[in-house]
Amino acid sequence: MRVIAIDGPAGSGKSTVARRLAERLDLPYLDTGAMYRAVAFAALRRGLDPDEAEPVARMARELVIDLDGSGVRVDGVDATVEIRGPEVTRAVSAVAANPSVRAELVRRQRDWVEARGGAVVEGRDIGTVVFPDASFKAYLTARLEVRAGRRHLEVTDTAYETVAADLARRDTTDSARVDSPLLCSDDAVHVDTSDRDVDAIVEELVERLKG
Ligand code: C5P
Repeated sequence: MRVIAIDGPAGSGKSTVARRLAERLDLPYLDTGAMYRAVAFAALRRGLDPDEAEPVARMARELVIDLDGSGVRVDGVDATVEIRGPEVTRAVSAVAANPSVRAELVRRQRDWVEARGGAVVEGRDIGTVVFPDASFKAYLTARLEVRAGRRHLEVTDTAYETVAADLARRDTTDSARVDSPLLCSDDAVHVDTSDRDVDAIVEELVERLKG
């Protein structure tokens, strides 16, 4: 089974690169961040405190998350836009630090990829925890101001300073958590995307995959 793992912090260019790579390799694409966002979205809608581990985990085990169409459906509700919004973005790292939520979503991620016979999978712990035996692993990074600038372009109604502060806070929570923190796997190809365009990065990864 061909599994390509793409990890890195927010704004590192993972999603753009992973999608393009999936097209080039004719493989399905799985955005695992969207799954954690779906759980945070559902918790907020139900009025659950994202830090309350047990109620959030119980809800996550029952939740229907559909990533197969062009968007994301959560218990049948189209959440494509809202999962990228500021409320969900602020709540998601707390939900993702919950070991029971992670256990449930990691199981679903493995099932999703196995059912399709392989995929390009992006996240924070794909090469380290979800698919440690992936055929190929890349870890993307970029300077904080570059990553914040990219996110700011997507959320134009929020001040740059707020976006940068939220991103730095999320990086810290994602890297410091006990369960599956954001880490660069020893065997991952490390790419700094700060000053490079997407085409060049995708080309480099395609070349390295051949070798
Ligand atoms: O990639 P994205 O920014 O959409 O991810 C949202 C959040 O989901 C991250 O900040 C992180 O807390 C969590 N996440 C994770 N493990 C993954 C993917 C995402 O903990 N594999």
